Amino acid sequence: MRARARAPELIECHDCGQAVSFSAASCPNCGSREPAGPYAHSERELRRLRGEARNDRTLIVSVVGCGLLGAAFGGLTASGSIMTIVGAAFYGLIGVLLGAPVGFVINMTRHLGRH
Ligand SMILES: [Zn+2]
Repeated sequence: MRARARAPELIECHDCGQAVSFSAASCPNCGSREPAGPYAHSERELRRLRGEARNDRTLIVSVVGCGLLGAAFGGLTASGSIMTIVGAAFYGLIGVLLGAPVGFVINMTRHLGRH
């Protein structure tokens, strides 16, 4: 999952079928001006799709990250093996619950900064 996080979103070129970046203005293989196909070549729709994909990633990263931080905190601060498991699960859950709004806030502020 970590290795794929920064990978470009690849689609099949509408004209030649080769893998091409979703954000490419033209296909590097065949030079097609519409590698995404005629139905998705509106610039506004492409931008919306790219933004949604990035927002989803931000949300997942923040939820998982906060959950792991919470689990680590609970596990490290607890005493006793049972309390370690309970604490890690409890704080991990809190981290996940906090991570979702954190991801939303990150997405909102990025949108505000771009306009
Ligand atoms: Zn092509």
